Amino acid sequence: MIAIYIHVPFCKQACHYCNFHFSTNQSGKPLFVKALLKEMSLRKDEFQNQPVASIYFGGGTPSLLNKSELEEIFYHLNTTFDISSSAEITLEANPDDINTSLLQVWRNLSINRISLGIQSFQPHALTWMNRAHNNQDALNALRLIAEAGFDNMTADLIYGVPGVSDDQWMSDILALTDRKIPHISAYCLTVEDETALAHFVKKGTSPPVQEEQANRQFDLLIKILTEKGYQHYEISNFALPGMEANHNSSYWLGRHYMGLGPSAHSYNGSSRYWNVANNKKYTEALNAGILPPNEIEILSETQKFNEYILTRLRTHWGVNPNDMSDPFKSTFLEEVKEFIPDMIFESDGSYFLTTQGKMWADHISSQLFASEE
Ligand code: SF4
Repeated sequence: MIAIYIHVPFCKQACHYCNFHFSTNQSGKPLFVKALLKEMSLRKDEFQNQPVASIYFGGGTPSLLNKSELEEIFYHLNTTFDISSSAEITLEANPDDINTSLLQVWRNLSINRISLGIQSFQPHALTWMNRAHNNQDALNALRLIAEAGFDNMTADLIYGVPGVSDDQWMSDILALTDRKIPHISAYCLTVEDETALAHFVKKGTSPPVQEEQANRQFDLLIKILTEKGYQHYEISNFALPGMEANHNSSYWLGRHYMGLGPSAHSYNGSSRYWNVANNKKYTEALNAGILPPNEIEILSETQKFNEYILTRLRTHWGVNPNDMSDPFKSTFLEEVKEFIPDMIFESDGSYFLTTQGKMWADHISSQLFASEE
């Protein structure tokens, strides 16, 4: 079984913190759709016709695709790939795009999971982030999604945002738990290079992210969601029982996936490769009948081990030394001792981050990495 990721590289406006690949010029959307269909055809045999367990439309803003664009994409998906009848099909949406008729289109096309980019319910935070929606849009979207009968959805929140108090952060979390949203992803605000936010912080017009505030709000998040019955199954992801994301779990469990669209990454077990992050180069190549420029990284055994540590330590599946071979296994068993019991604990032979360890996940992983000989 494989997973398919489709990158839709258009947004209404640029959020200040965002470093994903997207364009705010939507005039290229029809050419992009045409190129995407061509990419599917050219790459249809890449994974030996394995059945597709999940499809994820990410971006960018996939909710900018209109009815006929989506219908064309789904027709092509269904006629090109062997999509499992139980496939999880997720579409990322921004709250201001949601309306009853679009939701009906999504349901008719067998989209069965919505990922709603709320980020915050605080008006000042949404303005500060330069989001295209306001808090009323988010509340309306949640209501319309429930009324349309989508029982599987996730909502994104961001913590550590300057000017958002702990009380406001708690009320954001409760706005979701009160509505029994089955899955919540919460990310720490980070200042990525070459974003508007990085520029503002450098100029001094925006305060830097306070690590203490972010740690406090992450702690509150874990406490509230755990009390409300959510399982903290990946460092940024929480689900009510049985509502974990199949697609994202594929990444964390090392399964194979095909990424379609500009900048999309693919993984086949031995290498990782990704399309050019440029809409014009992507569409020009495909509309001329050839695959777009891409880059490839063939993973060494050391890189595979390090990726295993990086992804699995963040999850509730943990790190199991039985998945490793020597010399990685013996080195890991020696080095992990340094983090026990404060940061890592052992249970049934696997190793997991403690609550304190979750605050330092990247640092701990890097300490456990093997180095190339
Ligand atoms: S809508 Fe999403 S992809 Fe687009 S700029 Fe904002 S955060 Fe980035």
